[in-house]
Amino acid sequence: MSTPAQTLTNDSAAARARAVIPGGVNSPVRAFGSVGGTPLSIVSASGPRVTDVTGRDYVDLVASWGPALLGHAHPEVVDAVQRAAARGLSFGASTPGETELAELVIDRLTVGGVRGIERLRLVSTGTEATMTAIRIARGATGRDVIIKFAGHYHGHSDGLLAESGSGVATLGLPGSAGVPADIAALTLVLPYNDRAAVEAAFAAHDGRIAAIITEASGANAGVLAPEPGFNAFLADTAHAHGALLILDEVLTGFRVGPAGWWGLEQTGAHPFAPDLVTFGKVIGGGMPLAGVGGRAALMDLLAPLGPVYQAGTLSGNPLAVAAGLATLRLADADVYAHVDTAAIRVQAALHDALTAEGLPHVISRAGSLFSVAFREGAVRDYDDARAQETWRYGPFFHAMLDQGVALPPSVFEAWFLTAAHDEDALTAIVDALPAAARAAASA
Ligand code: PMP
Repeated sequence: MSTPAQTLTNDSAAARARAVIPGGVNSPVRAFGSVGGTPLSIVSASGPRVTDVTGRDYVDLVASWGPALLGHAHPEVVDAVQRAAARGLSFGASTPGETELAELVIDRLTVGGVRGIERLRLVSTGTEATMTAIRIARGATGRDVIIKFAGHYHGHSDGLLAESGSGVATLGLPGSAGVPADIAALTLVLPYNDRAAVEAAFAAHDGRIAAIITEASGANAGVLAPEPGFNAFLADTAHAHGALLILDEVLTGFRVGPAGWWGLEQTGAHPFAPDLVTFGKVIGGGMPLAGVGGRAALMDLLAPLGPVYQAGTLSGNPLAVAAGLATLRLADADVYAHVDTAAIRVQAALHDALTAEGLPHVISRAGSLFSVAFREGAVRDYDDARAQETWRYGPFFHAMLDQGVALPPSVFEAWFLTAAHDEDALTAIVDALPAAARAAASA
Protein backbone atom coordinates (compact mmCIF):
# COMPACT_ATOMS: atom_id res chain seq x y z
CA MET A 1 0.00 0.00 0.00
CA SER A 2 1.49 3.35 -0.93
CA THR A 3 1.14 6.46 1.20
CA PRO A 4 -0.04 9.59 -0.65
CA ALA A 5 2.90 11.99 -0.91
CA GLN A 6 1.11 14.93 0.75
CA THR A 7 0.57 13.03 4.02
CA LEU A 8 4.22 11.98 4.40
CA THR A 9 6.10 13.09 7.45
CA ASN A 10 9.55 12.08 8.64
CA ASP A 11 7.79 10.11 11.41
CA SER A 12 5.56 8.20 9.00
CA ALA A 13 8.46 7.56 6.61
CA ALA A 14 10.62 6.26 9.48
CA ALA A 15 7.83 4.06 10.87
CA ARG A 16 7.25 2.52 7.45
CA ALA A 17 11.00 1.99 6.97
CA ARG A 18 11.41 0.35 10.39
CA ALA A 19 8.90 -2.33 9.42
CA VAL A 20 11.09 -3.55 6.56
CA ILE A 21 14.64 -2.21 7.11
CA PRO A 22 16.58 -2.94 10.35
CA GLY A 23 16.26 0.21 12.45
CA GLY A 24 14.78 1.90 9.41
CA VAL A 25 18.27 2.70 8.10
CA ASN A 26 20.77 1.19 5.70
CA SER A 27 23.71 2.56 7.68
CA PRO A 28 23.55 2.99 11.48
CA VAL A 29 24.98 6.52 11.46
CA ARG A 30 21.78 7.72 9.76
CA ALA A 31 19.63 6.79 12.75
CA PHE A 32 19.49 9.62 15.28
CA GLY A 33 20.96 7.09 17.72
CA SER A 34 22.61 9.51 20.14
CA VAL A 35 20.67 12.72 19.47
CA GLY A 36 17.17 11.21 19.69
CA GLY A 37 14.16 12.03 17.57
CA THR A 38 13.20 10.92 14.09
CA PRO A 39 15.79 10.75 11.32
CA LEU A 40 15.11 12.89 8.26
CA SER A 41 13.86 11.10 5.19
CA ILE A 42 15.46 12.94 2.29
CA VAL A 43 13.95 13.13 -1.17
CA SER A 44 16.34 15.49 -2.96
CA ALA A 45 19.36 17.72 -2.53
CA SER A 46 20.88 20.61 -4.39
CA GLY A 47 23.96 22.71 -3.67
CA PRO A 48 24.27 23.23 0.11
CA ARG A 49 20.73 22.02 0.89
CA VAL A 50 18.78 18.80 1.37
CA THR A 51 14.97 18.51 1.22
CA ASP A 52 12.98 16.08 3.37
CA VAL A 53 9.73 14.23 2.60
CA THR A 54 7.65 17.14 3.90
CA GLY A 55 9.30 19.49 1.42
CA ARG A 56 11.31 21.29 4.10
CA ASP A 57 14.83 22.45 3.16
CA TYR A 58 17.85 22.29 5.44
CA VAL A 59 21.33 23.72 5.02
CA ASP A 60 23.33 20.51 5.08
CA LEU A 61 26.60 19.94 6.93
CA VAL A 62 26.63 16.17 6.39
CA ALA A 63 27.45 16.30 2.66
CA SER A 64 26.63 12.59 2.36
CA TRP A 65 29.29 12.07 5.10
CA GLY A 66 31.95 13.69 2.97
CA PRO A 67 31.59 12.91 -0.75
CA ALA A 68 29.66 16.06 -1.72
CA LEU A 69 32.76 18.31 -1.82
CA LEU A 70 31.16 20.41 -4.58
CA GLY A 71 27.74 20.42 -2.91
CA HIS A 72 24.81 18.25 -3.93
CA ALA A 73 23.85 17.53 -7.53
CA HIS A 74 26.47 19.73 -9.13
CA PRO A 75 25.11 20.22 -12.68
CA GLU A 76 28.34 19.13 -14.40
CA VAL A 77 28.64 16.00 -12.26
CA VAL A 78 24.99 15.10 -12.84
CA ASP A 79 25.43 15.69 -16.57
CA ALA A 80 28.51 13.43 -16.66
CA VAL A 81 26.58 10.67 -14.88
CA GLN A 82 23.56 11.05 -17.18
CA ARG A 83 25.74 10.85 -20.27
CA ALA A 84 27.52 7.79 -18.87
CA ALA A 85 24.16 6.16 -18.03
CA ALA A 86 22.98 6.60 -21.60
CA ARG A 87 26.03 4.60 -22.75
CA GLY A 88 25.28 1.67 -20.43
CA LEU A 89 25.19 1.09 -16.69
CA SER A 90 27.85 -1.57 -16.27
CA PHE A 91 29.90 -3.66 -18.66
CA GLY A 92 31.94 -5.98 -16.45
CA ALA A 93 34.92 -5.00 -18.57
CA SER A 94 37.68 -2.40 -18.53
CA THR A 95 36.79 1.14 -19.59
CA PRO A 96 38.94 4.10 -20.68
CA GLY A 97 37.37 6.17 -17.88
CA GLU A 98 38.82 4.06 -15.08
CA THR A 99 42.31 4.45 -16.55
CA GLU A 100 41.78 8.22 -16.75
CA LEU A 101 40.67 8.27 -13.14
CA ALA A 102 43.69 6.23 -12.01
CA GLU A 103 45.98 8.60 -13.96
CA LEU A 104 44.29 11.62 -12.41
CA VAL A 105 44.56 10.25 -8.87
CA ILE A 106 48.22 9.25 -9.31
CA ASP A 107 48.91 12.69 -10.77
CA ARG A 108 47.21 14.43 -7.83
CA LEU A 109 49.14 12.26 -5.38
CA THR A 110 52.40 13.49 -6.88
CA VAL A 111 53.53 16.35 -4.66
CA GLY A 112 56.89 18.09 -4.91
CA GLY A 113 58.04 15.43 -7.38
CA VAL A 114 57.25 12.63 -4.91
CA ARG A 115 54.74 10.00 -5.98
CA GLY A 116 52.43 8.96 -3.17
CA ILE A 117 51.11 6.02 -5.18
CA GLU A 118 52.02 4.34 -8.48
CA ARG A 119 48.99 2.10 -9.07
CA LEU A 120 45.31 2.31 -8.15
CA ARG A 121 42.74 -0.48 -7.94
CA LEU A 122 39.13 0.73 -7.87
CA VAL A 123 36.52 -0.86 -5.60
CA SER A 124 33.03 0.29 -4.58
CA THR A 125 33.32 1.17 -0.87
CA GLY A 126 35.88 2.37 1.64
CA THR A 127 35.35 -0.87 3.54
CA GLU A 128 36.58 -2.86 0.55
CA ALA A 129 39.51 -0.50 0.07
CA THR A 130 40.87 -0.95 3.61
CA MET A 131 40.07 -4.68 3.61
CA THR A 132 42.06 -5.07 0.40
CA ALA A 133 44.94 -2.93 1.69
CA ILE A 134 45.24 -5.21 4.70
CA ARG A 135 45.18 -8.31 2.53
CA ILE A 136 47.97 -6.87 0.35
CA ALA A 137 49.99 -6.02 3.47
CA ARG A 138 49.57 -9.53 4.83
CA GLY A 139 50.35 -11.05 1.45
CA ALA A 140 53.46 -8.90 1.06
CA THR A 141 54.87 -9.48 4.53
CA GLY A 142 53.67 -13.00 5.26
CA ARG A 143 52.55 -11.68 8.67
CA ASP A 144 49.08 -11.58 10.25
CA VAL A 145 48.88 -8.93 12.96
CA ILE A 146 47.53 -5.42 12.28
CA ILE A 147 47.78 -2.30 14.43
CA LYS A 148 44.86 0.14 14.42
CA PHE A 149 44.06 3.10 16.64
CA ALA A 150 41.15 3.40 19.06
CA GLY A 151 38.45 5.68 17.68
CA HIS A 152 39.58 5.26 14.07
CA TYR A 153 37.02 3.87 11.65
CA HIS A 154 38.11 1.94 8.58
CA GLY A 155 34.81 0.41 7.49
CA HIS A 156 33.01 -2.66 8.75
CA SER A 157 35.28 -5.59 7.85
CA ASP A 158 35.82 -8.16 10.62
CA GLY A 159 39.31 -7.14 11.67
CA LEU A 160 38.72 -3.41 11.86
CA LEU A 161 35.69 -2.88 14.10
CA ALA A 162 37.44 -3.16 17.47
CA GLU A 163 37.17 0.17 19.39
CA SER A 164 36.08 1.72 16.15
CA GLY A 165 34.88 5.26 15.56
CA SER A 166 31.87 6.48 13.58
CA GLY A 167 28.59 4.66 14.35
CA VAL A 168 30.38 2.19 16.64
CA ALA A 169 31.47 5.14 18.80
CA THR A 170 28.09 6.89 18.54
CA LEU A 171 26.31 3.77 19.78
CA GLY A 172 28.98 3.24 22.47
CA LEU A 173 29.87 -0.26 21.27
CA PRO A 174 33.23 -1.95 22.01
CA GLY A 175 33.20 -3.58 18.56
CA SER A 176 30.78 -5.91 16.81
CA ALA A 177 29.14 -9.20 17.61
CA GLY A 178 29.71 -11.76 14.88
CA VAL A 179 33.46 -11.16 14.63
CA PRO A 180 35.31 -14.40 15.50
CA ALA A 181 37.61 -13.94 18.48
CA ASP A 182 40.50 -15.43 16.51
CA ILE A 183 40.15 -12.69 13.91
CA ALA A 184 39.74 -9.89 16.45
CA ALA A 185 42.88 -11.18 18.19
CA LEU A 186 44.91 -10.31 15.10
CA THR A 187 44.11 -6.60 15.57
CA LEU A 188 46.06 -4.66 18.19
CA VAL A 189 44.19 -1.51 19.18
CA LEU A 190 46.41 1.30 20.44
CA PRO A 191 45.75 4.83 21.74
CA TYR A 192 46.16 7.42 18.98
CA ASN A 193 49.09 9.81 19.02
CA ASP A 194 50.91 7.53 21.49
CA ARG A 195 54.40 6.74 20.20
CA ALA A 196 55.37 4.66 23.23
CA ALA A 197 52.36 2.38 22.68
CA VAL A 198 53.40 1.79 19.08
CA GLU A 199 56.98 0.99 20.08
CA ALA A 200 55.78 -1.35 22.82
CA ALA A 201 53.49 -3.19 20.39
CA PHE A 202 56.36 -3.79 17.97
CA ALA A 203 58.59 -4.93 20.83
CA ALA A 204 55.95 -7.37 22.09
CA HIS A 205 55.00 -8.78 18.67
CA ASP A 206 58.26 -8.51 16.77
CA GLY A 207 58.16 -10.15 13.36
CA ARG A 208 54.35 -10.66 13.49
CA ILE A 209 53.03 -7.19 12.55
CA ALA A 210 52.08 -6.82 8.89
CA ALA A 211 50.92 -3.21 8.97
CA ILE A 212 49.79 -0.19 10.88
CA ILE A 213 46.53 1.20 9.52
CA THR A 214 45.73 4.77 10.49
CA GLU A 215 43.29 7.44 9.41
CA ALA A 216 45.46 10.04 7.67
CA SER A 217 43.92 12.36 10.23
CA GLY A 218 41.49 10.93 12.72
CA ALA A 219 37.97 12.17 11.97
CA ASN A 220 35.59 9.43 13.14
CA ALA A 221 35.67 10.01 16.91
CA GLY A 222 35.35 13.70 16.39
CA VAL A 223 38.27 15.24 14.56
CA LEU A 224 41.56 14.00 16.04
CA ALA A 225 44.50 15.42 14.11
CA PRO A 226 47.79 13.52 14.24
CA GLU A 227 50.37 15.34 16.32
CA PRO A 228 53.12 16.88 14.14
CA GLY A 229 55.38 14.10 12.92
CA PHE A 230 53.16 11.26 14.20
CA ASN A 231 52.40 9.87 10.72
CA ALA A 232 56.10 10.09 9.80
CA PHE A 233 56.92 8.27 13.05
CA LEU A 234 54.44 5.53 12.12
CA ALA A 235 56.01 5.12 8.68
CA ASP A 236 59.54 5.00 10.10
CA THR A 237 58.63 2.60 12.89
CA ALA A 238 56.71 0.26 10.61
CA HIS A 239 59.53 0.21 8.09
CA ALA A 240 62.20 -0.35 10.74
CA HIS A 241 60.31 -3.53 11.70
CA GLY A 242 59.59 -4.79 8.18
CA ALA A 243 55.92 -3.74 8.39
CA LEU A 244 53.88 -1.44 6.15
CA LEU A 245 51.96 1.78 6.76
CA ILE A 246 48.41 1.90 5.36
CA LEU A 247 47.17 5.48 5.22
CA ASP A 248 43.38 5.60 5.20
CA GLU A 249 42.37 8.70 3.25
CA VAL A 250 38.79 7.53 2.61
CA LEU A 251 37.47 10.58 4.46
CA THR A 252 40.34 13.07 4.10
CA GLY A 253 41.37 12.25 0.52
CA PHE A 254 40.59 15.05 -1.98
CA ARG A 255 38.69 16.82 0.81
CA VAL A 256 41.29 18.54 2.99
CA GLY A 257 43.31 19.41 -0.11
CA PRO A 258 43.95 18.30 -3.69
CA ALA A 259 46.27 15.49 -2.54
CA GLY A 260 44.46 14.76 0.71
CA TRP A 261 46.05 14.83 4.14
CA TRP A 262 49.23 13.22 2.80
CA GLY A 263 49.58 16.15 0.39
CA LEU A 264 49.38 18.63 3.27
CA GLU A 265 52.06 16.76 5.22
CA GLN A 266 54.22 16.25 2.15
CA THR A 267 54.75 20.01 1.90
CA GLY A 268 55.16 20.40 5.68
CA ALA A 269 57.90 19.67 8.21
CA HIS A 270 57.38 15.91 8.43
CA PRO A 271 56.89 14.34 4.98
CA PHE A 272 56.53 10.56 4.96
CA ALA A 273 56.01 7.68 2.57
CA PRO A 274 52.98 5.47 3.18
CA ASP A 275 53.05 2.05 1.52
CA LEU A 276 49.35 1.81 0.70
CA VAL A 277 46.72 4.56 0.59
CA THR A 278 42.95 4.05 0.60
CA PHE A 279 40.42 6.43 -0.93
CA GLY A 280 36.63 6.71 -0.93
CA LYS A 281 33.90 9.34 -0.61
CA VAL A 282 35.07 12.35 -2.74
CA ILE A 283 36.78 10.05 -5.29
CA GLY A 284 33.29 8.94 -6.37
CA GLY A 285 31.59 12.33 -6.06
CA GLY A 286 28.58 10.71 -4.35
CA MET A 287 28.53 7.44 -6.31
CA PRO A 288 29.76 4.12 -4.86
CA LEU A 289 33.46 4.27 -5.66
CA ALA A 290 36.64 3.82 -3.64
CA GLY A 291 40.19 2.71 -4.27
CA VAL A 292 43.41 1.35 -2.89
CA GLY A 293 46.72 2.62 -4.21
CA GLY A 294 50.38 2.10 -3.51
CA ARG A 295 53.79 1.33 -4.90
CA ALA A 296 53.80 -0.84 -8.03
CA ALA A 297 55.69 -3.65 -6.32
CA LEU A 298 52.97 -3.97 -3.69
CA MET A 299 49.94 -3.33 -5.89
CA ASP A 300 51.14 -5.82 -8.47
CA LEU A 301 50.73 -8.54 -5.84
CA LEU A 302 47.01 -8.27 -6.66
CA ALA A 303 45.42 -10.78 -9.02
CA PRO A 304 45.72 -11.25 -11.95
CA LEU A 305 49.44 -10.41 -11.61
CA GLY A 306 49.99 -11.79 -8.14
CA PRO A 307 48.65 -14.12 -5.46
CA VAL A 308 46.52 -11.64 -3.46
CA TYR A 309 42.92 -12.01 -4.63
CA GLN A 310 40.43 -9.17 -4.89
CA ALA A 311 37.57 -8.62 -7.33
CA GLY A 312 34.24 -6.85 -7.88
CA THR A 313 31.35 -7.19 -10.35
CA LEU A 314 30.69 -3.45 -10.17
CA SER A 315 34.28 -2.28 -9.47
CA GLY A 316 35.12 0.78 -11.56
CA ASN A 317 31.44 1.16 -12.44
CA PRO A 318 31.24 3.59 -15.39
CA LEU A 319 28.64 5.89 -13.77
CA ALA A 320 30.65 6.08 -10.56
CA VAL A 321 33.87 6.72 -12.50
CA ALA A 322 32.14 9.48 -14.50
CA ALA A 323 31.01 11.15 -11.26
CA GLY A 324 34.49 10.81 -9.75
CA LEU A 325 36.27 12.19 -12.80
CA ALA A 326 33.89 15.15 -13.06
CA THR A 327 34.20 15.88 -9.34
CA LEU A 328 37.99 15.72 -9.22
CA ARG A 329 38.32 17.82 -12.37
CA LEU A 330 36.11 20.51 -10.84
CA ALA A 331 37.83 20.37 -7.43
CA ASP A 332 40.41 23.05 -8.14
CA ALA A 333 42.32 25.40 -5.83
CA ASP A 334 39.30 27.74 -5.60
CA VAL A 335 37.13 24.90 -4.27
CA TYR A 336 39.62 24.06 -1.51
CA ALA A 337 40.11 27.76 -0.66
CA HIS A 338 36.34 28.23 -0.38
CA VAL A 339 35.86 25.17 1.83
CA ASP A 340 38.76 26.27 4.07
CA THR A 341 37.40 29.81 4.43
CA ALA A 342 33.85 28.60 5.07
CA ALA A 343 35.10 26.15 7.72
CA ILE A 344 37.07 28.87 9.51
CA ARG A 345 34.01 31.14 9.54
CA VAL A 346 31.70 28.48 10.96
CA GLN A 347 34.29 27.43 13.56
CA ALA A 348 34.69 31.04 14.73
CA ALA A 349 30.92 31.53 14.99
CA LEU A 350 30.58 28.22 16.85
CA HIS A 351 33.30 29.22 19.30
CA ASP A 352 31.66 32.62 19.88
CA ALA A 353 28.20 31.12 20.42
CA LEU A 354 29.44 28.51 22.91
CA THR A 355 31.64 31.05 24.70
CA ALA A 356 28.70 33.44 25.06
CA GLU A 357 26.89 30.69 26.98
CA GLY A 358 29.95 29.93 29.10
CA LEU A 359 30.04 26.36 27.77
CA PRO A 360 33.32 24.46 28.06
CA HIS A 361 34.23 23.35 24.55
CA VAL A 362 37.07 22.57 22.21
CA ILE A 363 36.84 22.73 18.45
CA SER A 364 39.23 20.15 17.04
CA ARG A 365 40.50 20.81 13.53
CA ALA A 366 42.29 18.97 10.76
CA GLY A 367 42.49 21.18 7.70
CA SER A 368 38.92 22.12 6.78
CA LEU A 369 37.52 19.29 8.92
CA PHE A 370 36.37 20.14 12.42
CA SER A 371 34.09 18.97 15.18
CA VAL A 372 33.11 20.20 18.61
CA ALA A 373 33.71 18.44 21.92
CA PHE A 374 31.94 19.68 25.05
CA ARG A 375 35.00 19.70 27.31
CA GLU A 376 38.12 21.72 27.97
CA GLY A 377 41.64 20.95 26.78
CA ALA A 378 43.03 19.35 23.67
CA VAL A 379 41.49 16.16 22.32
CA ARG A 380 44.36 13.86 21.49
CA ASP A 381 42.88 10.37 21.52
CA TYR A 382 39.65 8.40 21.80
CA ASP A 383 39.59 8.52 25.61
CA ASP A 384 39.78 12.33 25.46
CA ALA A 385 37.00 12.42 22.85
CA ARG A 386 34.73 10.29 25.03
CA ALA A 387 35.48 12.30 28.18
CA GLN A 388 33.08 15.14 27.36
CA GLU A 389 29.53 16.24 28.07
CA THR A 390 28.15 14.30 25.12
CA TRP A 391 24.55 14.85 26.27
CA ARG A 392 24.79 18.51 25.29
CA TYR A 393 25.02 17.64 21.60
CA GLY A 394 21.45 16.28 21.20
CA PRO A 395 19.74 19.56 22.23
CA PHE A 396 22.34 21.52 20.24
CA PHE A 397 21.72 19.37 17.15
CA HIS A 398 17.92 19.63 17.41
CA ALA A 399 17.99 23.40 17.92
CA MET A 400 20.00 23.67 14.70
CA LEU A 401 17.62 21.30 12.91
CA ASP A 402 14.58 23.28 14.10
CA GLN A 403 16.20 26.35 12.52
CA GLY A 404 16.80 24.53 9.24
CA VAL A 405 20.43 23.43 9.61
CA ALA A 406 21.20 19.69 9.42
CA LEU A 407 24.37 18.78 11.34
CA PRO A 408 25.84 15.27 11.54
CA PRO A 409 23.63 13.46 14.08
CA SER A 410 26.54 12.58 16.39
CA VAL A 411 29.07 14.59 18.37
CA PHE A 412 31.70 12.15 17.08
CA GLU A 413 31.37 13.19 13.43
CA ALA A 414 33.07 15.97 11.49
CA TRP A 415 31.08 18.86 10.02
CA PHE A 416 31.42 18.96 6.26
CA LEU A 417 31.47 22.27 4.41
CA THR A 418 31.26 22.25 0.61
CA ALA A 419 32.05 24.53 -2.30
CA ALA A 420 28.29 25.17 -2.57
CA HIS A 421 27.98 26.73 0.90
CA ASP A 422 27.35 30.28 -0.32
CA GLU A 423 26.71 33.44 1.67
CA ASP A 424 23.06 32.52 2.27
CA ALA A 425 23.90 29.06 3.55
CA LEU A 426 26.76 30.25 5.77
CA THR A 427 24.62 33.05 7.21
CA ALA A 428 21.87 30.54 8.01
CA ILE A 429 24.37 28.38 9.91
CA VAL A 430 25.96 31.28 11.78
CA ASP A 431 22.58 32.79 12.70
CA ALA A 432 21.32 29.47 14.08
CA LEU A 433 24.30 28.86 16.39
CA PRO A 434 23.41 31.14 19.37
CA ALA A 435 20.05 29.46 19.98
CA ALA A 436 21.69 26.03 19.65
CA ALA A 437 24.36 27.05 22.15
CA ARG A 438 21.58 28.14 24.56
CA ALA A 439 19.89 24.76 24.14
CA ALA A 440 23.22 22.99 24.83
CA ALA A 441 23.84 25.16 27.90
CA SER A 442 20.47 24.38 29.43
CA ALA A 443 20.85 20.63 28.82
N1 PMP B 1 37.73 4.72 6.28
C1 PMP B 1 37.37 5.93 6.77
C2 PMP B 1 38.44 6.84 7.33
C3 PMP B 1 36.03 6.32 6.77
O1 PMP B 1 35.69 7.53 7.27
C4 PMP B 1 35.06 5.43 6.23
C5 PMP B 1 33.58 5.80 6.18
N2 PMP B 1 33.16 6.84 6.93
C6 PMP B 1 35.49 4.20 5.74
C7 PMP B 1 36.83 3.88 5.77
C8 PMP B 1 34.51 3.21 5.17
O2 PMP B 1 34.01 3.66 3.96
P1 PMP B 1 32.61 3.08 3.41
O3 PMP B 1 31.55 3.63 4.30
O4 PMP B 1 32.54 3.60 2.00
O5 PMP B 1 32.70 1.59 3.45
